Amino acid sequence: MKAVIFDKPGLENLRVVEDVPIPEVKEGEVLIKVMMAGVNPIDYFVVTGSREAKPLPHIPGAEFAGIVESVGPNVTNVQRGNKVVVYPRLFDGTCDMCLVFKEMLCRNGGVIGVTCNGGFSEYVKVPSDNVFKIDEGMDWELAASMPVSALTAYHALNSASLSLNNYVVVVGASGNTGMFATQLARLVFSAKVIGVSRKKWVERFGAFMVVEKEHALEKIKEVTNGKMADVVIDPLGAETFLNSLELLKPNGKLVTYGVLTGSTVELPIFKIYNQQLSIIGTTGGSRRELTDLLNQYKWLQVKTWKKFKLEETKTAIESLSSPERDGRIFLDLTAQ
Ligand SMILES: [Zn+2]
Repeated sequence: MKAVIFDKPGLENLRVVEDVPIPEVKEGEVLIKVMMAGVNPIDYFVVTGSREAKPLPHIPGAEFAGIVESVGPNVTNVQRGNKVVVYPRLFDGTCDMCLVFKEMLCRNGGVIGVTCNGGFSEYVKVPSDNVFKIDEGMDWELAASMPVSALTAYHALNSASLSLNNYVVVVGASGNTGMFATQLARLVFSAKVIGVSRKKWVERFGAFMVVEKEHALEKIKEVTNGKMADVVIDPLGAETFLNSLELLKPNGKLVTYGVLTGSTVELPIFKIYNQQLSIIGTTGGSRRELTDLLNQYKWLQVKTWKKFKLEETKTAIESLSSPERDGRIFLDLTAQ
C-alpha cells in the first residue's frame, strides 16, 4: 500500500512509500481503506517532533474516514463495506477516566497518528472500539472532520456549561475547530455567536456577527451593551489568549485547547480572581460526544479550502499556517 512515512522528525523527511505492507488485523481490530483525511495542527506537531511519534518510522494522520476493508475475530460493531469514521483516542476502557466517559484522558491512552500509525495511508488498522458507522449520505469531507475538528469544538462547548442565549465568542472562527464551534454553539446551545475572523462566510455558519481581531474588544462591548461575553472559545494559543480574557464578562469562561501560535503567556492572576474568570482546558472529546455529532451531521457543514494527494502531504501540512488558507485542508484518497 501507499503511505506517508517519516523516519525522523522534520517536514523535509516526509516521503511517500509505495510498498508498505498492509497491516494484518488481529482480534478486535479493523482494517480501513482511507478515503479522506483531515489535516490538523496535531499532524504538524507530530511530523515536526514537538510531539513524540511512535513507532518510528511513522505514518501520521489523526483524523480520517473510510470504508471497512476487513475485520479481525470478535469484531461485531462493523463489517466489510461499512462507511466509517475513527475516534482518534486510544484508551483502555477500564481506568477511572474511561469509566466516566472521558476516554481522551485515559491513564493508559494515546492518539492514533501519534502513538501508533495513522491515516495518511491507503489502509490503516485500528481497534474496533474506535470505529463508528456513518450514514451513506455523509460526504467524505464532513466525515473526515468529525473525529478531531467537530469533536474538539463540541467537547469545548460542552465543557463551558453554556446556558441558552449566552454570548459565545469563537476566536479563529474560520479555522478547523472554529467553524464547528460556531455552528454547534448556535445549533446545539442556541448561543449568540460572535466569530473573530477576517472571513465573512463565518456568518453562513451561524455567527450573527463576524469581527476582525483588532476590533473585537470594541465591537463585543458595543453589541453586549458593555456586558461582554459569557464564553470565549480560543484554540489559537499564546497570540490571542490574553486578548480573549479581555472579552469575558465577570464570571466568564475561556476555553482553550490549542497552541498553534505558541503555548506560554504571563497570566494576570489578579484579573482572574477579581473577575472570577474560569480558564477551562479541553482536549478532543469522548466517544459519546462523537456519536452525538454523527446523529446530527445533517445540520453541519464544512468549508474546504484545498484537497491534496498523499504525495503532496508536506505542502498540505505546511499550508496549515498559510495566510491564504480559507477553510479546511484534506488529503483526498478517493481516487487512489
Ligand atoms: Zn482508560
